[in-house]
Amino acid sequence: MEKVELRGCSEDELIEICQKLGLKRFRAVQLFQWVQQKAVRSWEDMKNIGKSDRQTLNTHLHLYALEKVREQRSKDGTRKYLFRLEDGETIECVLMDYARTKTRDRHTVCVSTQVGCAVGCAFCATGLEGFRRNLSIAEIVGQVLDITYYIRQEDPEFQVTNIVFMGMGEPLLNYDQVLKSIQLLNHEQGLNIGMRRMTISTSGVVPKIVQLARDNPQVGLAVSLHAARDDVRNSLIPMNRRYPLKELMRACQEYTQITHRRITFEVALTAVNARREDAEDFVRLLKGQLGHVNLIPVNPVVGTGMERPDPVTIKRFAQVLDEAGISVSSREERGTDINAACGQLRRQWEGELT
Ligand code: SAH
Ligand code: SF4
Repeated sequence: MEKVELRGCSEDELIEICQKLGLKRFRAVQLFQWVQQKAVRSWEDMKNIGKSDRQTLNTHLHLYALEKVREQRSKDGTRKYLFRLEDGETIECVLMDYARTKTRDRHTVCVSTQVGCAVGCAFCATGLEGFRRNLSIAEIVGQVLDITYYIRQEDPEFQVTNIVFMGMGEPLLNYDQVLKSIQLLNHEQGLNIGMRRMTISTSGVVPKIVQLARDNPQVGLAVSLHAARDDVRNSLIPMNRRYPLKELMRACQEYTQITHRRITFEVALTAVNARREDAEDFVRLLKGQLGHVNLIPVNPVVGTGMERPDPVTIKRFAQVLDEAGISVSSREERGTDINAACGQLRRQWEGELT
């Protein structure tokens, strides 16, 4: 019989497994807490579960902790991890705001949802690699658990407070696993991260945006817009041909009607989409839509040919939106000295191996 991945199990699933194995219900509750709250990495660390019960559980449940291949620390406190999965694939994961522990008490983990990505955006290091596979629930949740484990070695009180699904991959193309991971991360007996403190970022998988509003109206949504005209957006995000802006904006409106939540629109500014006309296109597109625009200068990735505009251009761009009454901010850049744009560390590491 194939083993079930322990880190991907809900409390109810563990209760059912314990019942089948003739173990008491409270064992399942203990097990869930060890894994999802205390973030242990091995069976031996589960101190209140006796050896024979651990052995019985081990015959049915598989515990795999991610292997840390690399860790980079930025001057601003951002830490970036490269984790190896059991089949040898690697994924990236970032912890932000850690340096500000004492003052802001906000610790955000940026998690990956796929190995590689099929969407193939023109500026993205992950997109250059193509799609390899979806991550399992255990692998998605595992990134948060292992970062928690590592930081707690230095700071036993450490708690992750926010999650953004903005690492490698398109979360809405791995929909079921992402939603189940959110349930686990939110669980009271787990890390207990509020639904409203988790945000899914999508390049625009239209049908799934509406489904998300219905399935989980609490979780936050960020839409990677990047362009307000189909011809420009087609060149940056190939999936725009399948789900053009008109359909995307209709889905966004439906999302806000159902959830009453403000969408964050991500706009990575490059030399090709940051002119005054581009800003005016955004004004036309976003009029009447409840949202907030986040401007990010593109992180230049070798092989994409993308360059960032100068700061004055970005400022002017923001001004056009602001004057039109659109809520806008320029995202403070984190970890640029450690290749924090998704997929960059993995590429660098693979380049060194070959
Ligand atoms: N696939 C999802 C989530 C992962 S990408 C999405 O596309 O939304 C997370 C964010 O990083 C997206 O807004 C994406 O457009 C942006 N991004 C990717 N590569 C970047 C780069 N080189 N510079 C700036 N932003 C980048
Ligand atoms: Fe995929 Fe997002 Fe990168 Fe586009 S930006 S290739 S959707 S990970």
